[in-house]
Amino acid sequence: MSKKIEYSLFDDVSGFVDDAAKHLDLHPGLLDQIKQCNSIYKFNFPLRNDDGTYETLTGYRIQHSHHKLPVKGGIRYSEHVDEEEVKGLAALMTYKCALVNVPFGGAKGGVSIDPLKYNEGQMERITRRYTAELIKKKFIGPAIDVPAPDYGTGAREMAWIVDTFEAFNPELINAKGAVTGKPLSQHGIDGRTEATGQGVFFGIREAVSVEDDMQALGLTVGLKGKRIIIQGLGNVGYYSAKYLSEAGAKIVGVAEWNGGIWDESGIDIEALKTYQIENKGFKGFKKGEFIKNSKELLTYPCDILVPAALENQITKENAAQIQAKIIGEAANGPVTNEAEKILLKNGVMVIPDMYLNAGGVTVSYFEWLKNLSRVSFGKLEKRYDMEKYRKLLGTIENATGERFTDDEKDGLIKGASERDLVLSGLEETMVTAYHDMNRTRKEKGIQSLRTAGFILALQRIAISYMDLGIFP
Ligand code: GLU
Repeated sequence: MSKKIEYSLFDDVSGFVDDAAKHLDLHPGLLDQIKQCNSIYKFNFPLRNDDGTYETLTGYRIQHSHHKLPVKGGIRYSEHVDEEEVKGLAALMTYKCALVNVPFGGAKGGVSIDPLKYNEGQMERITRRYTAELIKKKFIGPAIDVPAPDYGTGAREMAWIVDTFEAFNPELINAKGAVTGKPLSQHGIDGRTEATGQGVFFGIREAVSVEDDMQALGLTVGLKGKRIIIQGLGNVGYYSAKYLSEAGAKIVGVAEWNGGIWDESGIDIEALKTYQIENKGFKGFKKGEFIKNSKELLTYPCDILVPAALENQITKENAAQIQAKIIGEAANGPVTNEAEKILLKNGVMVIPDMYLNAGGVTVSYFEWLKNLSRVSFGKLEKRYDMEKYRKLLGTIENATGERFTDDEKDGLIKGASERDLVLSGLEETMVTAYHDMNRTRKEKGIQSLRTAGFILALQRIAISYMDLGIFP
């Protein structure tokens, strides 16, 4: 039997939900309703290749929970995409949105392809056809289901999706809100590209700021000097590594699917990323040691391990060898249920995916709001605020007889740009959710932050059903 069949992300997520439900008094019927996927759409469609041959591709869009609409979640292009994976990822979106208070149900989509095997023209045809299949069944729309980027997709694919959606819905004034993660020229939002990594940074920063938690782990407070290993240097891994190292942490290892780099003196992330783009991997990078079997890097000595690639990376096979004190799940589902039990027994703190990578969907929410209002954040009040602060500074100068320097003045007067507001909203979301989750963990006397996160999410989702009188 292949490994793929044994492992089910959806079953793993359901197991985490069950662990949390033990601490709540939910009607079993309600718990079952929450856990199951509301709608599953699987379809096959043809792709005509440049040489005239055809292939049949399989696509999915799975809506896990309609307790809030629209549903929200990315589209993944990878060879691993199958129904179990998309179901699991869709379910995670539901709990993630509930935990960080973003008013969406969860969904996920995907096409089972290796995107590296197709050229740009083929990718465009696949994406537009995929979108048309969603439109046919009303599985996309600003009030229904709003896709976004995920592993193997980005702003380019989102531009094709919105363009296709608009072509089919020319009368819909909110059509731009049918997908997020779009390029800025297509009404995207400033800061969405780096949002997930930025959120990972805020989340880890909060975790290491809690003195008693760090003491229990035998770590000092703060990011300065913390040794970090990152798995995956794609969008999420790269921005996480960038912000963490800018805050004083030391990236000592980076693992990619085709090899890793280990350097205890600290890796220059910008240089490594540039090298990776030019050479399609790390082999030959001038500094550090090349590690052929990069999976081994996960067990190297460090303070924080950040898996930022795919699910099912830390399993019962390697969990006991993990030396990190903290695992920050930037990817979805990197630690299996069985592995987490081993890690907790060994005193490792796991900052769960449903919280740590919620920065992406949080900023997607801001993008969707921008699209519905058709005005960028800060556009109306920026000048007004600047004028008000200018007058205030003038009043202070007159009253005190002192003068601000030009630099001080510029800093104080500057009105908030769209990017400033996005960052502020993201930071607020990540800070609040971390402490909500950690407080719940302590109140319930449990060790697992993930269980605490699921408890909070379940409570919020359950209320939506109970207030409708569907369940007692
Ligand atoms: N794919 C991202 C995630 O897993 C973002 C989803 C979104 O922005 O809707 O959270």
